[in-house]
Amino acid sequence: MEILQHFDVIVVGAGLAGMRAALEIDPDLRVAVVSKVYPVRSHSVAAQGGINAAIDPEDKWQDHAFDTIKGSDYLADQDAAELMCEDAPRVVYEMEHWGTIFSRRPDGRIAQRSFGGQGYPRACYAADKTGRALYQTLFEQSIRRQITVLKEFFVVSIATAHGQVAGVVCIEIRTGTVVGLAAKSVIIATGGAGMMYARTTNPYINSGDGMAMAYRAGVPLKDMEFIQFHPTTLPGMNVLITEGARGEGAYLYNRDHERFMERYAPKLMEVAPRDIVSRAIETEISEGRGFDGDYVLLDLRHLGENIIKHRLSEIYDFALTYKGINPIYEPIPVQPGQHYMMGGIATDKHGATELPGLYAAGECAAVSVHGANRLGANSLLDTLVFGRQAGIQASQFVRKNPGVDFPSADLTRQQDMISRVKAAGRREPYGAIRRELRETMTQYVGTFRDEPRLTKALKTVRALQDRYAEAGIQDQGDVFNYDLLAYIETGFLLDLAEIVTVGALARKESRGAHARIDYPDRDDAQFLRHFLFTPDGRRDEPVVITHYQPKERKY
Ligand SMILES: Cc1cc2nc3c(=O)[nH]c(=O)nc-3n(C[C@H](O)[C@H](O)[C@H](O)COP(=O)(O)OP(=O)(O)OC[C@H]3O[C@@H](n4cnc5c(N)ncnc54)[C@H](O)[C@@H]3O)c2cc1C
Repeated sequence: MEILQHFDVIVVGAGLAGMRAALEIDPDLRVAVVSKVYPVRSHSVAAQGGINAAIDPEDKWQDHAFDTIKGSDYLADQDAAELMCEDAPRVVYEMEHWGTIFSRRPDGRIAQRSFGGQGYPRACYAADKTGRALYQTLFEQSIRRQITVLKEFFVVSIATAHGQVAGVVCIEIRTGTVVGLAAKSVIIATGGAGMMYARTTNPYINSGDGMAMAYRAGVPLKDMEFIQFHPTTLPGMNVLITEGARGEGAYLYNRDHERFMERYAPKLMEVAPRDIVSRAIETEISEGRGFDGDYVLLDLRHLGENIIKHRLSEIYDFALTYKGINPIYEPIPVQPGQHYMMGGIATDKHGATELPGLYAAGECAAVSVHGANRLGANSLLDTLVFGRQAGIQASQFVRKNPGVDFPSADLTRQQDMISRVKAAGRREPYGAIRRELRETMTQYVGTFRDEPRLTKALKTVRALQDRYAEAGIQDQGDVFNYDLLAYIETGFLLDLAEIVTVGALARKESRGAHARIDYPDRDDAQFLRHFLFTPDGRRDEPVVITHYQPKERKY
């Protein structure tokens, strides 16, 4: 147990949001990025399809903002969406000048493709490896700037004192030592919480740690009931098949060989927003027009070998490797899977939370630009725009605030907790709890929701929380004790699952990704507002409306 070092700013998370934030911290300030995995294993690297920006002279950022707000089913805060879309072209050119190699058009300009819910083909891309291309660039920049990255440090809690942030408590994974990192400002950039669901495109590390830590520190979580299900994932392991495939022109077919999107979004068809396409697929399957009661087909064959092999090379490989299917000759089986959290740590449009000194950016934050449904290729943009904003704000905060003493009692408390779960042993294994949680959320808090299913889910989640309180771990060691880390992550997921379900029960309307079959209509009179949750309960906030009055959402 020790206080390792004093910093001005700690950034928790080495994905795109965290890295971008760190690069914006004034160079004379002491900054460290903390990551529970080696940085290039962050989920940002897996992003495939693209990043939106109105860079074409025919396109306008105001149209991008409108598409984003309409896509959000009018729950996005419009001032934040405008800030993001206006900044987008600058972001893309900045990344290109820093070294990102985007795919090009024959005339040399950056290529752009269609994405769901966009009125213009404005997703810039690097084949179907856009996240990797962007991440490589920021990683190089972080080396150039000699930014300290504490790799394989697992942050367990946010330390506070005198009503402001004091740093973070973490476990050094290699040794098991409980370490305090004192800082005047902390930026949370820990990504999503897909591990709450059995069917997800997210990796094991996306367990919502930062959201749960903020919540436990009394910082509100916002819009948590809005979970995005991506329409096209490979059945079984739910590896993502990018929306870029449909952006390039792929078709969706049911068992009767119908392009069924005609019935759900006659204008945009396969490139309608994700909530609509996912519901369409689930409906086709549940009404008996799927295959094996489980999937539909995504057909790329008419795009031809050249496009498939060059612009969609990664998903070509995925289909071959994981399913033995060659998309040049055969359609790919697809089913919806959890993909993204629209909600997260409530921030203003500059990334500030209610706790002085604490900022949040990227998927763990709810700014909120995505509202009830995020449009594809808007998340990479969100990480870079608001990562930068959080970095600017944190630097300014540090300049004005001397900081507070680190509460060393937090370290003792963490050490005691570790001793307790080791002593409990495997009486109640947390692994079973985690599995049941993921199955429950997939079955009862999925694409379609209703009161009986949500009530059942809430009861189960609360029972699992009780069991978790008694649970323990088998590994008694200190070195690389992943048993302990998975136990702690399960606790984070249980907190978040409860909030998602409570929010989903209270929101008696259908909006964006939140589809209640018992309340099929959007109800602006009652629910055009954000739900904010803290351990003390719920409070509501109005949605910021600037230029775009809520209308019915048709595609
Ligand atoms: C398969 C896939 C494809 C996608 N494709 C696209 C796309 O084409 N376009 C688009 O716009 N969006 C896409 N998205 C969404 C987008 O990639 C993510 O929302 C975004 O990259 C998240 O970035 P982030 O920086 O917020 O978090 P992440 O990249 O998830 O990084 C989180 C970081 O936090 C660290 N961390 C977490 N918990 C702790 C802890 N307790 N202690 C220490 N460190 C911790 C992790 O180590 C990691 O470094 C895709 C998502 C997936 C899953």
